[in-house]
Amino acid sequence: MRILGFIETSFLDWDNKLSAVIFVGGCNFKCPFCHNHELARDLKRLKELDFDNIKKKLVAKKAWLDGVVISGGEPMMHPEIFGLLIELKKLNYKTKIDTNGSFPYPLKEAIELGLVDYVAMDIKTTFDKRYDKAIGREAWLEVLLRTVRLLKESGVDYEFRTTMVPTIVAPTDLITILKDIAPVKKYAIQQFVPKNARLKQYRLKKPYTKEEILKVLPELKPYAQEVVLRGF
Ligand code: SF4
Repeated sequence: MRILGFIETSFLDWDNKLSAVIFVGGCNFKCPFCHNHELARDLKRLKELDFDNIKKKLVAKKAWLDGVVISGGEPMMHPEIFGLLIELKKLNYKTKIDTNGSFPYPLKEAIELGLVDYVAMDIKTTFDKRYDKAIGREAWLEVLLRTVRLLKESGVDYEFRTTMVPTIVAPTDLITILKDIAPVKKYAIQQFVPKNARLKQYRLKKPYTKEEILKVLPELKPYAQEVVLRGF
């Protein structure tokens, strides 16, 4: 597992928390709209960061930071993620994992070991054939839904989140998604930023407006304790 990015302080990656963010390379999905595609492909030309240097910064910033987010790529595809989480726990940090939901068993183990305080799982689109297009490969829907169930039953704090990529997911699809996973604690609807998308056709897409999302919001509320909009 290679650490390919580190942000010392962020208000954007964990709601109501000032966090550091560690980005690990590699992902088992090939989303055509991926905004972090070089990192997701773990390109050799990307420089690996030394965890000892990151650790020094985390020690120095302990009084300021609320936690550390591990993002990617897909962090849970690497068995070494456990070592990283243990190091962060030794520093007494709260940890958040960003995941695409395709590794339920390692995630369950990390939660049961007390290594994870918060999980954000992406839901790319409705749980049907369209998921294949969204992730650029065959989707194992049962595995993704297993992760949904695991998060809801585990007692860990969590959110499900969907990035509103035109032609991948429409505002009315959010109702279908939420009906499939309800009831949930928190659901985040995120604005799509086209400029860094992997494929050109997605860089040309016009994002949905806030008004288009607000129209479906009342229909989502019965299924989630909290629905948040990000980036709109
Ligand atoms: S799951 Fe996330 S990191 Fe992986 S390809 Fe899709 S958007 Fe990129």
